[in-house]
Amino acid sequence: MSTNKTIPFCNPGLRFDHFKNELNDAFQKVASSNSYILGSEVAQFETALSKYISTEYCIGVNSATDGLALSLMALGVKSGDEVVTAGLTAPATVTSILQIGAKPVVVDILDTTHCINPAEIKKAITKKTKAIVPVHLHGYACEMDQIMAIAFEHNLYVIEDCSQAHGASFNNQKLGSIGDCGVFSFYPTKNLGCMGDGGAITTNNGALASKLRALRNYGLQDNNVAEAGINSRLDEVHAAILNTLLPALDEHNESRRKYANLYQDALKNLPLKLPPIDSNAIYHQFPVRMENRNEFRNQLKKEGVLTGIHYDKSINQHDALKQYCQPLPVATRAAEELVSLPIQPEILDTHFETIVTKIKLALQ
Ligand SMILES: *Cc1c(COP(=O)(O)O)cnc(C)c1O
Repeated sequence: MSTNKTIPFCNPGLRFDHFKNELNDAFQKVASSNSYILGSEVAQFETALSKYISTEYCIGVNSATDGLALSLMALGVKSGDEVVTAGLTAPATVTSILQIGAKPVVVDILDTTHCINPAEIKKAITKKTKAIVPVHLHGYACEMDQIMAIAFEHNLYVIEDCSQAHGASFNNQKLGSIGDCGVFSFYPTKNLGCMGDGGAITTNNGALASKLRALRNYGLQDNNVAEAGINSRLDEVHAAILNTLLPALDEHNESRRKYANLYQDALKNLPLKLPPIDSNAIYHQFPVRMENRNEFRNQLKKEGVLTGIHYDKSINQHDALKQYCQPLPVATRAAEELVSLPIQPEILDTHFETIVTKIKLALQ
């Protein structure tokens, strides 16, 4: 078939193409609605996502970066306050803390799931600590029981970064429903994505929800700005895309789990470290580890299979962020060894066997 063509690592366009007719209808509906900002599509999506995550409220915003910053702001985290987060994540997690003038305190991760290490959170807490931002990396849940216990003991807020964890759970609770709030990204390549930037915040706290609704819309509430906000709304057109795709999220996640299990079987005797098997993970990535990954990736690329790295820099390797980092030996090592294999169902439905064959060839 198309074995002579390069197999992409990730291709959100394949998904949009699959839903072409439904999406065209959705676009047409928005176009003729004469309502483009905070209309019925956003309201419908907020209701649907809160139902899906099992929270009382959901607030659509422009991105997860803004969602994290607005959550901190709405919870009253201020300049000079400290916010503890993870050493291996999208830089956005850390820059969102800087965005509101607070001080990130970046700590090391677990070597298994690559999520934040609760013991390191504990050690990092000072009188100035106000919040923890655990990141559910690659679709794996953080140790939320331990993290919530630490937060309770020290009276800290917990803002879950769920940008890679749409539909994942911990002890039968959906991620995004455990902390004070959960923040989601709908960047096109996420498990649930739109055709541009988008995000949402889930919470069970009604006062927090009203505050967030105001802050995302200049701070306006009942025609009054009590506290200055920003413009960070989810667009109607993106909400319409998300309304079309959300009903298929479970099926897509299930398909990722299926391929993750197939990878586990197919790759088990090869010189690479496989990620943990976890039926509650949603495999935003399928991250394997090895030394000499460049050789492997180049060889695979020559064979027509592209891979990714999430992430090739731990947070302490970014010039503007290193000053906020504690020693991160585990994250730094992981950043040198991680390779993300293709895991998007639309790619693997066609190419899984070829990818496995080429991986075996490259590791011979
Ligand atoms: C994608 C991502 C973000 C940033 O999301 P945006 O919607 O692009 O702002 C933040 N944190 C994590 C863990 C992410 O994967």
